Amino acid sequence: MVEARFFMFHLVQVSAHVSLLFQRFVNRGSSKAGMLRTMTVKVAINGYGTIGKRVADAVDAQDDMEIVGVTKTRPAFGCDLAVRKGYPLYCTFDDAERIASFAEAGYTCHGGLSDLLAVADIVVDCSPGKVGASNKDIYQNAGVKWIFQGGEKHAMTGMSYTSSANHKENLNVEGTRVVSCNTTGLSRTLVPLYEHCGELQVECTMIRRAADPGDSSKGPINAIKPVLKVPSHHGPDVMTVKPEIKINSMAVAVPTTIMHVHVITATLPEGHGLTTESILGMWSKNPRLVIMNGAETGITTTAEVMEFARDIGRKWGDLHEIFIWEDGVKLEGNTLYYFQAIHQESDVIPENVDAIRALTGIEDDWMSSVAKTDAAISKYNHL
Ligand code: NAD
Repeated sequence: MVEARFFMFHLVQVSAHVSLLFQRFVNRGSSKAGMLRTMTVKVAINGYGTIGKRVADAVDAQDDMEIVGVTKTRPAFGCDLAVRKGYPLYCTFDDAERIASFAEAGYTCHGGLSDLLAVADIVVDCSPGKVGASNKDIYQNAGVKWIFQGGEKHAMTGMSYTSSANHKENLNVEGTRVVSCNTTGLSRTLVPLYEHCGELQVECTMIRRAADPGDSSKGPINAIKPVLKVPSHHGPDVMTVKPEIKINSMAVAVPTTIMHVHVITATLPEGHGLTTESILGMWSKNPRLVIMNGAETGITTTAEVMEFARDIGRKWGDLHEIFIWEDGVKLEGNTLYYFQAIHQESDVIPENVDAIRALTGIEDDWMSSVAKTDAAISKYNHL
């Protein structure tokens, strides 16, 4: 029954995609990207790593945007994937020697970052956290719109984005930051609750994966490491996209590579009129959430959630949806308790596509953008 609910959701997404084929294209703003004349937004990816390669494919899946190039800092193994995908390869830097090093390693490099920005309307910066800030001037000087990732500070971008919280506020702005995987996950379940209740007080604990599966440089590998900054940045970061939600968080890193788990306690206002069942019903009508009963399905840990994700068949075994255990949700009076699991490498990927639509003004309704994004990704993965 739960699987049926999940696949019905995809069916709805596909039909929404068909009805959106004649979407609106709006030309606003003064930058180059604001004067988009074509039907297809030209997207550059700066930093073709864990997030960058996934965003590239998600963009490639859409019919209203295209990848004009991806950057690598040097001719390392990720270049082969870009070549296989047919994405033009550029060097992250304009330095002639670094550009030439690609040819020496057998790759065709089309130039440096400036050359790539010259053919792009918008750049999605997927460089490592805190590195992106140094790229902002380069983007502004090139007159392209820019999207940073959650490793950058909100203060640097002045705008942040998640599809469910503030698509409208991001329409036609010069640049934004797609918030982190954790903030994206928190927003997906808390924003609909806030919109029903009109106020929300939240305390949560982030149980964080130590490192991504492809990352050998981080830890811990045999310890539980509390984040000794209280509150951690995760909860308050939700307020960069939905300031009305009052939220604090604490965090610990644990020796796993596959997912984060959130332990959430939300205080609802008097007269909220909700029950555990109606909250589950509300979430099931919202996109990019999967709700399953652990006892019924046998999916009781993040290991099984990831196995379920691999069964779905998206590339890299990604799970763009936030996973909620139905039997881990309980409303007691005004206090709601629940767990959710986040696939850190992939929940932000479709949000980047929606953010491109917001910044270029080609779709002002977040639900329509989400439906279009997700249906196109499903088709791309032959699902
Ligand atoms: P990554 O290390 O896997 O990839 C970063 C890529 O950028 C690498 O290919 C690197 O060579 C390249 N790079 C290095 N210096 C650069 C520069 N100056 N300019 C452009 N590119 C440069 O990192 P990632 O995990 O993909 O993270 C990218 C961003 O996404 C960070 O802000 C991170 O916080 C955020 N994010 C990561 C995750 C995750 O779980 N991996 C989840 C959500 C958000």
